[in-house]
Amino acid sequence: MTAAEQASANIGVVGLAVMGSNLARNLASREGNTVAIYNRSYSKTETLLTEHPEANFVPASTYEEFAASLSKPRTAIIMVQAGKGTDAVIDALTEAFEPGDIIVDGGNALFTDTIRREKAVRETGINFVGAGISGGEEGALLGPSIMPGGSAEAWETLGPILKSIAAIAEGEPCVTHVGTDGAGHFVKMIHNGIEYADMQLIAEAYDLIRQGTGATPAEIADIFAEWNKGELESYLIEITAEVLRQVDAKTDKPLVDIILDQAGSKGTGVWTVQTALNLGVPVSGIAEAVFARAVSSKPAQRAASAALPGPSSVPTVDDKAAFIEDVRQALYASKIIAYSQGFDAIVAGAEEYNWDIKKGEIAKIWRGGCIIRARFLNRITEAYAENPGLVALVTAPYFTDAMAGTQDSWRRVVGGAAAAGIPTPAFSSSLAYYDSLRAPRLPAALVQGQRDFFGAHTYKRVDMDGTFHTLWSGDRTEIEATDSH
Ligand code: NAP
Repeated sequence: MTAAEQASANIGVVGLAVMGSNLARNLASREGNTVAIYNRSYSKTETLLTEHPEANFVPASTYEEFAASLSKPRTAIIMVQAGKGTDAVIDALTEAFEPGDIIVDGGNALFTDTIRREKAVRETGINFVGAGISGGEEGALLGPSIMPGGSAEAWETLGPILKSIAAIAEGEPCVTHVGTDGAGHFVKMIHNGIEYADMQLIAEAYDLIRQGTGATPAEIADIFAEWNKGELESYLIEITAEVLRQVDAKTDKPLVDIILDQAGSKGTGVWTVQTALNLGVPVSGIAEAVFARAVSSKPAQRAASAALPGPSSVPTVDDKAAFIEDVRQALYASKIIAYSQGFDAIVAGAEEYNWDIKKGEIAKIWRGGCIIRARFLNRITEAYAENPGLVALVTAPYFTDAMAGTQDSWRRVVGGAAAAGIPTPAFSSSLAYYDSLRAPRLPAALVQGQRDFFGAHTYKRVDMDGTFHTLWSGDRTEIEATDSH
């Protein structure tokens, strides 16, 4: 059957590299779906057809053929290189499609680009949906976590299709209409930011145990496998055990000792931190994770700094089992802070961009398919169900109890790491953030005084309304300021 023969496909995929071809196969494997497929270079389309003759695909070699093969309203998911590639495909599909049709960008777009694209495409009468898709290649094939934005009208058509291919967690598909225009890509970006923090925290836990107890990577793999049976149960803990257990075939050494210790990134962590800075939301755990990768990737600075003095004496770990349990508790506490900060960023983004984001639903759709899938996401859903207006996730009763149970361990670990000279940027900054939140009084008062001294930026008083300025260079009397700087 050729594309032009009949408009038989109910969904289409443009871009058949690893993500797109896996998503197309996932779609084709679900009952009732016929999938139109298009790739700029036809060779990828041919390869997919040859390798999967069983799949219900309708190939197209031009955008016109692709459009003709889709039943109306036409629905197409773009899975191409983010940036210029996405813009080029959107332009071509906007030409080939008609009002009422739906273009979905499933790539990793920056949410502000999605807002821009949605506005431009909407003017043609075509719906544009930016959908964050998490889970990598395997998720795309077997069931990802999907975070679509766009209009409610588009969601009506798209919802059942996306539900059919999403991961299932506790009987529920891991997809929900996140909010309008760029909301889906915004939430996907925050997901990736939390992923950065989670990975860094796990890496710090590994480093502490290795340096603190002398355990081998294989022994630490066993510890992580054990942790994965409890409240830390998650995909990232599970794969950490696998990575630590891996032995390098060439040298017979643990693979983790052979891999160059310079962490790369593709930019979504940086986007999260930049966005949070603009919104004024402290996502310190995520930021430290991004910076930790940056420090690791500065070989010249690290080599030049290798001779810098460290602690004159390093404390020893007498009770290894107790220390490992402390690290587990510290990891759990820091992880709660990372998620709490991530959800704060979602709340701030929703306010800024007028999105009605249901936080509990977001935690639910992250329970399966995505990289940060974890048992404790259920607790987040419950916390927002009990109190939708929760001002900080960490203050929900369940998490307050968790903090009460973990914070002594957390302090011992961070203090011990500092004394031993072991870097724990994410553990330490999470604890500092936690203590900042709970402090009855912060030294911000002094900062305000300094700002007023050098810049007449004014300050407020604790005991009366109004805005004040001290005449620092004069007789140092306080005057009521008329306008704030
Ligand atoms: P990719 O390497 O990012 O992109 C390659 C695809 O883009 C090819 O199909 C290529 O077509 C197409 N393309 C590039 N420029 C184009 C243009 N101007 N016009 C038409 N097509 C163009 O592919 P990927 O790794 O499968 O990722 C696809 C999207 O998913 C990306 O946005 C990525 O960020 C996102 N994503 C990836 C992962 C992952 O684990 N890889 C996870 C989540 C999300 P040709 O074959 O003709 O060159």
